[in-house]
Amino acid sequence: PTFAQLGLSDVMLASLVAASYHEPSPVQAGIIPRAIAGVDVLGQARTGTGKTAAFAIPILERLGTESCGPLPQALVLVPTRELAVQVRDEISKLAHGRKTRCQAVYGGKPIRQQIDRLGRGADIVVGTPGRVIDLLSRSALKLEKLEFVVLDEADRMLDIGFRPDIEKILRRCPQKRQTLLLSATVAPGIERLAKRYMVDPEIMDF
Ligand code: AMP
Repeated sequence: PTFAQLGLSDVMLASLVAASYHEPSPVQAGIIPRAIAGVDVLGQARTGTGKTAAFAIPILERLGTESCGPLPQALVLVPTRELAVQVRDEISKLAHGRKTRCQAVYGGKPIRQQIDRLGRGADIVVGTPGRVIDLLSRSALKLEKLEFVVLDEADRMLDIGFRPDIEKILRRCPQKRQTLLLSATVAPGIERLAKRYMVDPEIMDF
């Protein structure tokens, strides 16, 4: 299919042209329509497959072109600060022409600046679990308006030992939300996470 055949808005199609994304990757063609339809998706996809845009595009489309207010509507959890920056940059690129704001939060950098940025309002927050917990405990990050939660590279997050942090965060997210999980491998630990925190996830293998 083409991106237009996936039913994307003109604003999104223009961002994709600007990003030189000419056609959807298989991961994108599979995940985007399901995620736009509102179902939870567990996608087995490794890096380099276009998985970031596969979750970013449906979230941006569902949020619309306006900024929706001071509290975040989407939280993307990632294993490392490098990935946090990379995912934030990709989302910002795809959000061209929208008022939607995306911020990255991660450890190894003073927390103050990240608190200030969140205070100015972020629609989409991309963060590493430890720093997200830290910001939650300081009430600098609020999750009550979340409509989307993404667990990106979930297997790597579990390998690093983030399971307790991830579960603590997920327990504080609204029950009524959409959850997208991306993982290169789907081992029993991932399945357990999906069973506990996702609703009838559609499992897609690429
Ligand atoms: P990812 O798997 O999300 O890390 O993406 C891998 C690389 O492919 C990134 O540099 C993206 O900017 C790029 N990319 C993602 N989707 C497309 C697409 N449909 N066409 C061309 N490049 C893409």
